[in-house]
Amino acid sequence: MTDDSTFASLPTADGSARLPACAGADGGRQQRHGAALRFFWGPMDCGKSTMALQMNYNHARQGRRGLVLTRIDRSLGPRITTRIGLAHDAIEVTDDLDLCDLVRGRMAEGVRIDYLICDEVCFYTVRHVEQMAELVDHYGVDVFAFGLATDFRSCLFPAAQRLFELADEVTRIQVEVLCWCGRPGLLNARVVNGAVVREGQQVLIGDTAEGAEVRYQVLCRQHYRAGDLGRR
Ligand SMILES: [Zn+2]
Repeated sequence: MTDDSTFASLPTADGSARLPACAGADGGRQQRHGAALRFFWGPMDCGKSTMALQMNYNHARQGRRGLVLTRIDRSLGPRITTRIGLAHDAIEVTDDLDLCDLVRGRMAEGVRIDYLICDEVCFYTVRHVEQMAELVDHYGVDVFAFGLATDFRSCLFPAAQRLFELADEVTRIQVEVLCWCGRPGLLNARVVNGAVVREGQQVLIGDTAEGAEVRYQVLCRQHYRAGDLGRR
């Protein structure tokens, strides 16, 4: 599932900010204690939240203790919801929330924290991603991050960019989300009143359901660039 060529094709936004360790982001680097920062990305509707909840289930079943976090879930509540019907309570990540403080606080209460599940991580801040790296490196906490890589303009979200730079493993989720033409879906087009828009705020809530005033449609690169939504 790991697509290293995808990582290799991403631009380096700021060479000076890139740590030497990033050269090892080949899926094989492990921390001394075994914890790792893993980023799973893909277009809308590719099953990221479903995979996040499955990951939580698998680890919890092995007796590991974790926290589930999200930001701006489609339910607009402190929950992870999925289009196929799964749901789970989650801690809502705000700009002010320090993930290290959060984990330290739980540990001070005697709660063991083995891992974090971070859904919708594209909406987190870059600082949150730095905190994830800190949790892996200094607390031995596994961090599983799930989110979009690019916004409706096909530009990287800042947090996603930082994850590409810092993560131990980067995995592209491809649960065959198809463009209307049948090619694999790659980019998330924002559709307002039936037309693809390319300007506006980076984060604007909408769903992939038909009929909404603001919605998103996953397209292949060719049809994203052409702004072609296909025959309705
Ligand atoms: Zn297409």
